[in-house]
Amino acid sequence: MVSPVWHPFTQHGLNEPIPHVARAQGALLHLADGGTLIDCISSWWVTTHGHCNPRIAAAIAQQAGTLDQLIFAGYTHEPAEQVARGLIDLAPKAPGQPNLAHVFFSDSGSTAVEVALKMALGYWHNRALDGLCEARSRILVLEHSYHGDTIGTMSVGERGVYNAAWAPLLFDVDTIPFPAPGREQLCLDALKAACAASPAAFIVEPLILGAGGMLVYSPAILREMAAICRRHDVLFIADEVMTGWGRTGTLFACEQAGVVPDIMAVAKGITGGAIPLAATLATAPLFEAHRSSDRARLFYHSSSYTANAIACAAAAANIAIWQEEDVLGRIATLSAGIAERLEKLAQHPAFANPRQVGTVAAIDLITADAGYLSDLAPRLRAFFLEHGILLRPLGNTIYLMPPYCLDAGQLDAIFAALAAAGDQFAAKA
Ligand SMILES: *Cc1c(COP(=O)(O)O)cnc(C)c1O
Repeated sequence: MVSPVWHPFTQHGLNEPIPHVARAQGALLHLADGGTLIDCISSWWVTTHGHCNPRIAAAIAQQAGTLDQLIFAGYTHEPAEQVARGLIDLAPKAPGQPNLAHVFFSDSGSTAVEVALKMALGYWHNRALDGLCEARSRILVLEHSYHGDTIGTMSVGERGVYNAAWAPLLFDVDTIPFPAPGREQLCLDALKAACAASPAAFIVEPLILGAGGMLVYSPAILREMAAICRRHDVLFIADEVMTGWGRTGTLFACEQAGVVPDIMAVAKGITGGAIPLAATLATAPLFEAHRSSDRARLFYHSSSYTANAIACAAAAANIAIWQEEDVLGRIATLSAGIAERLEKLAQHPAFANPRQVGTVAAIDLITADAGYLSDLAPRLRAFFLEHGILLRPLGNTIYLMPPYCLDAGQLDAIFAALAAAGDQFAAKA
């Protein structure tokens, strides 16, 4: 029987196999047909400690029998309060910069970014009502960015085949060149020039652009970008949806640059990857611009499941794991294990441009057919599937983003498969 399920980012016309997964534990997926796969990309970048973490699973079970869901306009519950306090406690801090002090819940990375953009424009709108400034609405974005698949988040992301059909709906932004090696000053100069025109905000993925191809830049550039925004009174929005929760080696990527953004979006690993939840953190001025006796100035955003209690209980358990276990130690061990093997793989003539930030590693396969629409990525996916490995290359860029519980034997198996892929898919001279 043909399945009625319509999968995301899947071309059903190609009839690629769609593996059926029955259960998962740690870094392993157990297939319905009895096979196993190593989940090298954390089930699309969300699983941090490993699948079915017992502390998180127990918290979900406990909460599901206590309070499942509650209207969050004008009501509250302990799991949400606990997560908000935990987020404020764990958020990046730096001397002389206002702390992130308020937490707005939502349910996906895309909505957390939409909320960030709405907060930024709401800030300028409400301050303009007070005659404190002109209203501002222009958003600055970094070239090659990805911030989600809703209309607003596509608008602030890279334009291409994946959003061409909706181009008429997307709003205009100003794009700052990506600070690739040798182009750092070009990027910073363009940002300064764009900031002079008083935009509302600049949104970035800190240290590494994920879906744009695992493109990395230094903490020094991130720090400089944030400083330029501060000098020009432009709100600095950090999209930590992918980079948060230890991915880059620190809990949040902004820490490495000593940057406290005005607004920060988190999602993916916030529940350890067990259940959807997201949050947008903001400094006091953002909140204060909406706090008033005037109802017209409240923050008009909600979704039915805002701060769902079961999801918040999972996030509270994740935060407890971060506070009580040596997660950063595990991440350091995993990162070192990846670095050692990546260096060896980079000697293989089929590969170029190895790069790594914490637990995220990427390398480019040298090949003649590299575009996003070439059939290379599906052929690579099938090759890795046969080798018991879940990987989803971005064009000719193969990347790893595994759960932190991955062991040395699994790392060896992954890198053996990568080398085998190099042998098989290398461009023939
Ligand atoms: C995945 C991602 C998003 C979107 O998150 P969803 O939960 O898939 O909506 C936004 N920003 C970045 C940087 C991401 O990697």
